[in-house]
Amino acid sequence: MKCSLCNSDIKDRKSDNKGKIYHICHNCKLIQLDREFYLSREEEKQRYRLHENSAENKGYLKYLNSIITNSISPFLKPENRLFDFGCGPEKTWAGLLKGKGYNVSSYDPFFDNNSEWINKIFDAITAIEVFEHLLSPAAELEILSLCLKRGSFLIIRTMLHNNNWESFLKWWYREDPTHVSFYSETAIMYICRRWNYELVQIKNHCEIVLRKK
Ligand SMILES: [Zn+2]
Repeated sequence: MKCSLCNSDIKDRKSDNKGKIYHICHNCKLIQLDREFYLSREEEKQRYRLHENSAENKGYLKYLNSIITNSISPFLKPENRLFDFGCGPEKTWAGLLKGKGYNVSSYDPFFDNNSEWINKIFDAITAIEVFEHLLSPAAELEILSLCLKRGSFLIIRTMLHNNNWESFLKWWYREDPTHVSFYSETAIMYICRRWNYELVQIKNHCEIVLRKK
């Protein structure tokens, strides 16, 4: 078994009390759900439709606005070109950014599968609640990296684990069956080294801002 982020051989395999198996990379500290437990593409899509991520959900809007305050406004100016990777069915986040004056393109493998963004260069890419769903994060990071220039930002929202198996077992975040890849700060630092980013900030163990070197 190879790590889907750093490609190291993984020998550490652990299971929870329900028999769900995880692979733990000792190099980059990525924890991956075993493939046996992946949903089918159709089940995965259905599951995303259940998320209450529309603009009518006030709590969700408040949450997204706090990401703008913490991780977008300090670094980006209106009219900057933003690319929302994994926009979901409602495009609520992309809509909010447009409302703030940003020039936003989006893509989602299930809900907006277009190739218009490939080979384009953006001032920032946002991936809000996306990385935990990625089966092959290294492959996606490779493609995203080609869409950023020096000084561009990669803004990721995913909850980080703290490299402790006992607390991982108790973590609600792993209960969502579409969550398959779990990162820690160690994995974020690995991403910075391999794809040439500088770590700008990590807020609340979940909002990560990287700048292309
Ligand atoms: Zn790894």
